[in-house]
Amino acid sequence: MEIWRAQVMHTPRDPFAEADALDAFSDGALAFGDGRVAAVGGFDELRRAFPEARVRDERDAVLLPGLVDTHVHFPQLAIMGAMGLGLLDWLERYALPEEARMADPEHARRVAGEFVAGLAANGTTTALVFGSHFPAAQEALFEEAERSGLRIASGLVVSDRNLRPELHVDPDAAYEAGRELAGRWHGRGRLRYAVTPRFSLSCTEGMLEACGALHGEVRALVTSHMNENVDEVEAVRGLFGDFDDYLHTYEHFGLVGESTVLAHNDHPSEAELARLGAARASVAHCPESNAFLGSGLFPMSAHIQHGVRVALGTDVGAGTGLSVLKEALTAYQLQMLRDDAPPIGPAHLLYLSTRAGALALGLDDVGDLSPGRAADFVLLRPPAGSTLEAVLRHSDSPERTLGALFALAREECVAEVRIAGEAV
Ligand SMILES: [Zn+2]
Repeated sequence: MEIWRAQVMHTPRDPFAEADALDAFSDGALAFGDGRVAAVGGFDELRRAFPEARVRDERDAVLLPGLVDTHVHFPQLAIMGAMGLGLLDWLERYALPEEARMADPEHARRVAGEFVAGLAANGTTTALVFGSHFPAAQEALFEEAERSGLRIASGLVVSDRNLRPELHVDPDAAYEAGRELAGRWHGRGRLRYAVTPRFSLSCTEGMLEACGALHGEVRALVTSHMNENVDEVEAVRGLFGDFDDYLHTYEHFGLVGESTVLAHNDHPSEAELARLGAARASVAHCPESNAFLGSGLFPMSAHIQHGVRVALGTDVGAGTGLSVLKEALTAYQLQMLRDDAPPIGPAHLLYLSTRAGALALGLDDVGDLSPGRAADFVLLRPPAGSTLEAVLRHSDSPERTLGALFALAREECVAEVRIAGEAV
């Protein structure tokens, strides 16, 4: 058993549903052993409860649950910061050429290693990763993920139209390749498979049907994109004239349920929101990417009102970094630009960054520090002499401290990352 003494904060309850959802302990502690949280609370109390435990003094740091990224593209790591275009032109000019380079297994392996290391360096312990179109590259991602110890769900991205020929595959081949990868990796250690049609714009009905069949067989996660950009929505409407709306193109093939995470949804209809809520599906909100590509201002209140589960995704490479903390800050800023912003503050951001993501990915076991959960946590320490250090010294409440972390704490503040109690 170990006790880490630090400022400890987590959100075991949903702040969008109830007040006082933030549990904070200024002279706090986390006790854990055998990979699980034994207790969280004030240091003195935990010291008395576990007199034999080894104590680590981290009082100059803040301990939070491990961060959860529910939408991030591993093959796009290298193109972050490619400015000047909206979604469809950006895909064509920057993203898809780089994704095509993943045909080279050596390049793919190098990027997979850099990507996984980047997640950990930013305090992300769990992620739903949009994979590669190439099975060998996807294999490399799973291997690097396994080596890292992170909790990763991912899958082969499939498409059969409207991208570039080298990224297209026919539905039968997509099904077979997915089945093989899922057979090898789904449920192995901390890894899971995610059935991943790129988006309906690049999939025929035959491809979506193949994805539905694979999901029916593997009972894995499902992830894709939806309602990101008005031109994209219009193009999908043109391709799927017999369907009610964008969501219907996934629903029809059995791809929308509790284990589904759809990225963006900046331009949903009321009917889509109602059905997403009823299906218990989740939306990965990616505000950095939405702002960067000028895609839209996510209607968070409407999602919450319809009971749609919302979590955060960095959406690299349209997103501008792997930091979930930065993503949460941008979520806050973009909601503040809306007339219908929900009540949102530091506790909401922490929940979106941790527990909400865990629940979206079906991982009830992680996302907060309640006793019995897996001991996934991150220790944030401001570098000596940094602005953040000064701001934290002046903080007079846990909310102020947490707000300062979202504003200022980035990769250089991540002092340690633990998954099931083990150092990453
Ligand atoms: Zn994306």
